[in-house]
Amino acid sequence: MVRFDQVVKRFGDHTVLDQLDFGLRRGERVTLIGPSGSGKTTILRLLMTLERVTEGTIHVAGEPFSHMPGGRDRLVPANEKYLRERRRRIGMVFQQFNLFPNMKVLENVTEAPVHVLGLSRDEAAERGRELLDLVGLADKCDAHPTQLSGGQQQRVAIARALAMRPDILLLDEVTSALDPELVAGVLDVLRDIALSTDITMLCVTHEMGFARDVSDRVMMFDHGHVLEAGPPDQLFEAPEHTRTREFLSAVL
Ligand code: ATP
Repeated sequence: MVRFDQVVKRFGDHTVLDQLDFGLRRGERVTLIGPSGSGKTTILRLLMTLERVTEGTIHVAGEPFSHMPGGRDRLVPANEKYLRERRRRIGMVFQQFNLFPNMKVLENVTEAPVHVLGLSRDEAAERGRELLDLVGLADKCDAHPTQLSGGQQQRVAIARALAMRPDILLLDEVTSALDPELVAGVLDVLRDIALSTDITMLCVTHEMGFARDVSDRVMMFDHGHVLEAGPPDQLFEAPEHTRTREFLSAVL
């Protein structure tokens, strides 16, 4: 479904990802863990086309997905239409919820399906209500985001990402901006979605309990490399690398 092939990402002379190879199968749920600054968010941003690879190629659903001028797949167009099409297939939920403050909750969820997927307002509203129900906010359709708690806003952001029917859902530390008492509600919603749908999920989180519950595979990152990867029980119970053990003992 997703394949990183020798992906290098540099910011100036700082190499953040160094010849990264990894794959994600359709329906697989993978969690990226690792110290701050190890490049986890950069991976999600590259997939979402919010950053460009410096070298290498990212394949999504078998198609090369790189737009580095002069890169190995330089025939791939770097135009806006191409990028929009890629972004349409990938949903991302960020630390900050980034809702449209001037729109009601339901409008936040229906805006992109109407304008990007071309759904009628009625179709989009019906699906939007189902999704808001799924995230426990059926009664907030007509509220404005500022009337909601951070946890509720994040649940709207999750519904909004799902409304685009993405092939892949990217979650970037979605609970780290929340007050502690709001974290569990958001994680419960995501746990339900992860375990009751076949969506492919790539998640960056410091919530190790959540990672253990939902992941097929956990990947430990350090300095732009995959240090080790495996099923959560294996990685959490019997990590091979000292660096992983140190990291886990600091966060668990
Ligand atoms: P955290 O857990 O703290 O979010 P991370 O593993 O997600 O960390 P990234 O956000 O991917 O790490 O950042 C990796 C490195 O790349 C960091 O050193 C960061 O400062 C650097 N970096 C990220 N984005 C940029 C940018 N736009 N310009 C320059 N440097 C950047």
